[in-house]
Amino acid sequence: MTDAFAKPELRDLVRNFTRREIVPHLADWERAGEVPRELHRKAAELGLLGIGFAEEVGGEGGDLTDSIVVTEEIIQSGGSSGLIAALFTHGIALPHIVDSGDRDLIDRFVRPTLRGELIGCLAITEPDGGSDVAGIRTTAKADGDAYVVNGTKLFITSGARADFATTAVRTEDGVRLVVVAKDGGFTVTRTLEKMGWHCSDTAELSFVDVRVPRTHDVGGFLALMRHFAAERISLAVQCYATAQRCLDLTLAWVRDRHTFGRPLASRQLVRHRLAEMARQVDVARTYVRHTALRVASGEQLVTEVAMAKNTAVAACDHIVDQAVQLHGGLGYLRDAEVERHYRDARIMGIGGGTTEIMNEIIAKQLGV
Ligand SMILES: Cc1cc2nc3c(=O)[nH]c(=O)nc-3n(C[C@H](O)[C@H](O)[C@H](O)COP(=O)(O)OP(=O)(O)OC[C@H]3O[C@@H](n4cnc5c(N)ncnc54)[C@H](O)[C@@H]3O)c2cc1C
Repeated sequence: MTDAFAKPELRDLVRNFTRREIVPHLADWERAGEVPRELHRKAAELGLLGIGFAEEVGGEGGDLTDSIVVTEEIIQSGGSSGLIAALFTHGIALPHIVDSGDRDLIDRFVRPTLRGELIGCLAITEPDGGSDVAGIRTTAKADGDAYVVNGTKLFITSGARADFATTAVRTEDGVRLVVVAKDGGFTVTRTLEKMGWHCSDTAELSFVDVRVPRTHDVGGFLALMRHFAAERISLAVQCYATAQRCLDLTLAWVRDRHTFGRPLASRQLVRHRLAEMARQVDVARTYVRHTALRVASGEQLVTEVAMAKNTAVAACDHIVDQAVQLHGGLGYLRDAEVERHYRDARIMGIGGGTTEIMNEIIAKQLGV
């Protein structure tokens, strides 16, 4: 059976990029609370930002399997899920604009973003709640050829740096997505401090009587829901990739570390913990990749994607915790890579639809 995820050339490219352009700077970006725009330009020059987007809209082609390989390889080479969230936010901000097929919007927002010149974000969640997407309160009132948008968005990834926001609003026709430019549009009212994902800026955005051309309407509620699948798969990949990285770091550590005159790796308790970590990461990777292949081939999966996300989140939660534990005191220090993964991992069961909301989806499929 051919391995759709082998892609050795793409892996080499991403590994070299990560080791050269990301790893030496990641600790600084974690302290700064954001990644520099320059990184977007460098990633674009190598074609990494355009992966998964058609050439007709300025992308490099490829599909979900290519995006997955990029994510796996960045984390496996010493990057992080926070870095992925910050550098690849366009993965959630652009697909609706692309799907709208509007040439002007594609020229104004999609192409420059894929060239690393603009940063976009996806603004759905509000202070009153994120899980109930149908209940959003930000309004868009029709006024001639414009919408007038009022409301607040919370927890928006890359929101502090964003040049535009693909924004969920409530119109007379229900929930819709409109593209709002920062210039003359929304304001960043707060940059939020978080437990993890420190290099990924997260913001509160305010919209006060913002006039948005009606031509910036790029789709309705169903389109919004459809693209959740790719976002959830991406988060699931970040989970098993983080888990694999933590397992690898821990394997190296337990071989080196001696206690009571013997390497940690010689203790049965430790070996069985490692075996359990390896089992969980492999099950998660296998199921997530299998589900991703089905999504990439055009199947509209919702339940399986929810199962994939929850499986990968559970594996990641367990493995980052075990990795810190097996590293002892070192695992608790800021300089330890496993410490960063431990903090970064906590968002995975919250972002992109919580574990409970995934279970609601699964339960509905069961008819209960
Ligand atoms: C770092 C970070 C980055 C984010 N990035 C973005 C972004 O880029 N764009 C964006 O739009 N949003 C983003 N979010 C928001 C994220 O998607 C929401 O936090 C998430 O959907 C949960 O919404 P909430 O926080 O309002 O929690 P709530 O919806 O208030 O839920 C609170 C708790 O109740 C549970 N719950 C809710 N409803 C039910 C139910 N029916 N049954 C059982 N349990 C239930 C939830 O699972 C959760 O545990 C981000 C959040 C964080 C922290």
